[in-house]
Amino acid sequence: MNSRLFNHIPIKNLSGVGPALEQKLHKLGLNTIQDLLLHFPFRYENRALTSKIADVKVGQHISIEGEIVQKQIIAGRRKMLVCTLSDGTGLANLRFMYFNVGIQNSLRQGEWVRAYGEIKQGKRGVEIIHPQYQLIRHQASLQTDDGQLTPVYPTTEGMTQTVLRKLITQALLLLKRNQPEEILPTNLMQAMPDIVTALSTIHQPPVDIDPALIDSGEHPAQKRLIFEELLAYQLSMQLTKNYNQDQQAYPLIASQKLISPFLAQLPFSLTDAQKRVTEEIEQDLKYPVPMMRLVQGDVGSGKTMVAAMAALMAIENGKQVVLMAPTEILAEQHYLNFKKWFEPLNITLDWVSGRLQGKAKQAQFDAITRGEITMIIGTHAIFYDKAQFADLALVIIDEQHRFGVNQRLSLWQKGVKNERCPHQLIMTATPIPRTLAMTIYADLAISIIDELPPGRTPITTVVIANTRRLEIIERVKQACKHGSQVYWVCTLVEESETLDAQAAENLAQELQAYLAPINVGLIHGRMKPAEKQQIMQSFKDNQIQLLVATTVIEVGVDVSNASLMIIENAERLGLSQLHQLRGRVGRGSAVSHCVLLYQAPLSKTAQSRLQVMRDSNDGFVIAQKDMEIRGIGEILGTKQIGTADFKVVDLVRDQHLIGQIQRVSHYLLDHHPQSARQLVDCWLPDREKYINA
Ligand code: ADP
Ligand code: MG
Repeated sequence: MNSRLFNHIPIKNLSGVGPALEQKLHKLGLNTIQDLLLHFPFRYENRALTSKIADVKVGQHISIEGEIVQKQIIAGRRKMLVCTLSDGTGLANLRFMYFNVGIQNSLRQGEWVRAYGEIKQGKRGVEIIHPQYQLIRHQASLQTDDGQLTPVYPTTEGMTQTVLRKLITQALLLLKRNQPEEILPTNLMQAMPDIVTALSTIHQPPVDIDPALIDSGEHPAQKRLIFEELLAYQLSMQLTKNYNQDQQAYPLIASQKLISPFLAQLPFSLTDAQKRVTEEIEQDLKYPVPMMRLVQGDVGSGKTMVAAMAALMAIENGKQVVLMAPTEILAEQHYLNFKKWFEPLNITLDWVSGRLQGKAKQAQFDAITRGEITMIIGTHAIFYDKAQFADLALVIIDEQHRFGVNQRLSLWQKGVKNERCPHQLIMTATPIPRTLAMTIYADLAISIIDELPPGRTPITTVVIANTRRLEIIERVKQACKHGSQVYWVCTLVEESETLDAQAAENLAQELQAYLAPINVGLIHGRMKPAEKQQIMQSFKDNQIQLLVATTVIEVGVDVSNASLMIIENAERLGLSQLHQLRGRVGRGSAVSHCVLLYQAPLSKTAQSRLQVMRDSNDGFVIAQKDMEIRGIGEILGTKQIGTADFKVVDLVRDQHLIGQIQRVSHYLLDHHPQSARQLVDCWLPDREKYINA
């Protein structure tokens, strides 16, 4: 396929790129000409804008011009070259810490110089340290250099802006010489410049460009790029979906022979929402095409039950099922639940724990390969391990937002055997607005569990400064005295299990000292699974009244007698995570409370975020607010679709485009499939392997 932005030309073909520079460019993810063209500046400098020296302000990035009226080499710990410029309105110093003889000789007294850089306040007046500079004849030539703003690119150590600019200029020249054909429908083009113009404008904008337009992403050149990138994303999802629909899967017809006894043994009946979603899954599974369905449902809405129903449909057909969770502790919880439900039905199941090693692990894998284990539960490590399945027909992924899109697709491909793809069910507690969901999950069918099981009482949340800790401890004491159980969640800034564990341990000791004879338990990610299991069991059995925990309890833990939760350093956690944590209480009929402790002072943003938690128990509302406050990337995790995945698109800012993007996407796929692939190839080259039919 002809690559429109030279994805096939390695960067080393450009002049000036030797092996050392090539290495550095690779570090920045720049391997081809296309990578360079799509490496966008994050800001611009206006070097043409010169200021009178008298008018400069400290902190400004600006050019000044003047005559060198004094030049000194100042001796000290480090030798410095200082030139004093005068433009008749004032004096400014140019200070060089590193200089060679060439620089020293060129900057002679009486020469005129234009210098660009950040204005600083020096001891002897304003100065620029290490300015970019050029000699000019005299005032008459004080024009702009080339009438362009100067782009500033993301870079890495040892690579200067000048080098990047030169390479990108070469890439642009190549592009201009080879004008690629237009691939967007012509009727759209009236509103947008072609790709060459768009890229040239972004890399080398004219000085008179409207900075407000650029800042808001409203410039036509940006619009073109945004449109392309969003369209490419939509196309890639659509192509993935089409690819998926061309694959084969085992049709699974629910016979009810396991489902009926399963439902009969439950102490409750399914909610209407659970029934509806189960029905949607049943409809998908009937066909010999892999299901790709996402189930959205707030914390506590009973997604696990839906997963169990789907698993039973596969097992009724004699097939294997894998259930994957993001953490070991959640995998373990699922294992315990499914064991309770499935063993009475004579279904063999096992937990593939990351801790299982050597022979024991091999024996387990062999049993999976021989088909002796029907229901396999574990973290995504299951797929990185070399487990071979006898007859895998369904993969269930819990808490999808922790997996990236590419990760999910690659997991799925590993489940393919004998040309048969497993069906896929993805469960997430992160609700996102419908229009966004249509883009982000465009390759998936979506089911929503929009109802909580009956008998839940809303959780009351308060936000309290850490300084009132003693009061809170007293409150914990009272709660325990009245027979209820408490979680105390301890978090750190560092993403370190070891430090988290240490902090939790200290806290547990401190609280035990205050609260005896109340029993304080401790659970964290560094404990052995058996140990964790035992602690959780003691908490369930009410032998432990207060459980100090790290965020490992975020998901999967289910103790209905727990009705108070304290979360420390709440301001440091994401709202969705707080909501997940808080969802551990409010599972019984007692009124539950959540105390969000924070370290004062709180920033404005932190204040409004915690207020959202106080005011709402609705995961959907919380996600919406979180998105407004922090942007979509933060909510879903940059891995999945954060800003890191998009170069120019801002999903919240650009969501009004989604309807149009969808129409154009269908049009291109129907009438110009080559163009569609070229677009994906440009913007999402990694996606290639998942869409190649
Ligand atoms: P989540 O959607 O957060 O994964 P879970 O599947 O963990 O929720 O379910 C939360 C709790 O609700 C569990 O204790 C589960 O047994 C219970 N539950 C699920 N479905 C129902 C139902 N239909 N009626 C009553 N309780 C239910
Ligand atoms: Mg769950």
